[in-house]
Amino acid sequence: MKIEPSGVVMIGRCNIRTEACTAKNVGPVTAIWSGNNQIDVCRECLDEKIRLDEWQIEGAKILPGKINVEIVTEKDVNAGIILKAVAKNDKNDILMIETLEIPYSGRKKFGDEFLKKDLEISIKTYAQKYLTTAD
Ligand SMILES: [Zn+2]
Repeated sequence: MKIEPSGVVMIGRCNIRTEACTAKNVGPVTAIWSGNNQIDVCRECLDEKIRLDEWQIEGAKILPGKINVEIVTEKDVNAGIILKAVAKNDKNDILMIETLEIPYSGRKKFGDEFLKKDLEISIKTYAQKYLTTAD
C-alpha cells in the first residue's frame, strides 16, 4: 500500500496497534494518507509496516546525510513541553520547521527523550519526502 506521511505529529490513538505499539491508548502519532483515507499511526507501527513492506512511502528515497534535524527549542508550558525542530539540508538551508506541543500527561508518560526522538524521526521522514518531491 502506498502511503503519504502528512508530517503532522499529534497526541492520539494509533490505528494500527502492533505488538510494539506505543500509542495503543494514547501517544504521539503521525497522520498518514493512503488515497483519501487518513490513518493515525505511531512511530513503531509505521516502522514495522515499512519493514514488512506492507506500506511504501510514496516517492521516498533514502538520502543519507542530506538532512540534519535538530531540536532548537524546548519550552516548559504548564508542566507540559513545546518542542520545535528544524530540518536543514547539507547547505544549512532550513527545509522545514515543526512544533510539537505535549501536555503534562503525555510528557509524564513518554518522557522528553522519547518525544524528542519521535519528533526528529517524523520531521526527517517528511523532509526526505519533501526533498524527493521538490527535486
Ligand atoms: Zn502503533
